[in-house]
Amino acid sequence: MVVVMRPDATDADIAHVVAKVEAVGGEANVSKGVVRTIIGLVGDIDSFHHLNLRTLSGVADVHRISDPYKLVSRQHQPDRSTVWVGPAGRQVPIGPDAFTLIAGPCAVESAEQTHEAARMARSAGATILRGGAFKPRTSPYAFQGLGVDGLRILAEAGAANGLPVVTEVVDSRDVEVVASYADMLQVGTRNMANVGLLRAVGDAGKPVLLKRGMTATVEEWLMAAEYVAQRGNLAIVLCERGIRTFEPSTRNTLDISAVPVVQAASHLPIIVDPSHAAGRKDLVVPLSRAAIAVGADGLLVDVHPDPEQARCDGPQALHGADLRQLAQAVRRLSAALGRSGADPVSTPSLGAVAGSA
Ligand code: PEP
Ligand code: MN
Repeated sequence: MVVVMRPDATDADIAHVVAKVEAVGGEANVSKGVVRTIIGLVGDIDSFHHLNLRTLSGVADVHRISDPYKLVSRQHQPDRSTVWVGPAGRQVPIGPDAFTLIAGPCAVESAEQTHEAARMARSAGATILRGGAFKPRTSPYAFQGLGVDGLRILAEAGAANGLPVVTEVVDSRDVEVVASYADMLQVGTRNMANVGLLRAVGDAGKPVLLKRGMTATVEEWLMAAEYVAQRGNLAIVLCERGIRTFEPSTRNTLDISAVPVVQAASHLPIIVDPSHAAGRKDLVVPLSRAAIAVGADGLLVDVHPDPEQARCDGPQALHGADLRQLAQAVRRLSAALGRSGADPVSTPSLGAVAGSA
């Protein structure tokens, strides 16, 4: 922490700051410039906070140097981490050495729709299946998801296609049941700052996909991740899904710069959701290309066998030719960037995607 003194601060003001810091066991290093004096503090940052240094006579400003988050910070762990999703022996990596495509329907609507979407996802090269059973809709009158029936359908569709599954949990009371079906728990944008839910998913013993709050800064997002990490769960993947801005032509504004910003600040993997960012299927492939190029560790994409009939987010769901384009972009661009998981040999034939158009 650094205390910047005002140009008119007196020696007594400086001595007072030093005495307060030393009284709580800290060290204060004074450096006098021509105009200003700055005081570098070393010691326990929480005890410095309680001193209310900004209120002391002669103090102009106080700056924090170390990150407010610890466990998720790169200061804590310099090497970027990989999160493994799925049952032992069949785990899918999300991290710096892989490129992981997660795809599936926005919502689980029926067994038929979910199985078909899972086949489409796998054919496009996805290695994890997504699908919402508990939907956090803006309107209480909109389809809220199939609940536990949806969880069962999703788990069956995942198992039938050899894909681990990720699904959203919207209420801390549902964490146990969701964790009993899902391989990864998603916390959505509307719940990013729900600390009770963050603690509950931190306790659940499953990897967590933490979406960025639609009005959250990167620091607030990493502090939310810290709540999960504090419960002893560091298997956290961050997901940039667009933020609220004044621009109405897209549902949200994809903050592509958040990817390298987060990677500089945190060791956690970060993926991009171009579907919820754009809200329009014509933008999903271009934004996916941008996400791969900027260094994201994966993508989360909505697919649907019949987007026109979708009960949730149909306009942003890919199928047919759009999905083939996405598969191609993922395969080619991630391979060009030296990421594994994009090996064309290991990617199943795209025939099933063509069939679903
Ligand atoms: C979702 O992924 O289905 C979803 C609701 O996303 P978000 O929380 O980003 O709106
Ligand atoms: Mn959705």
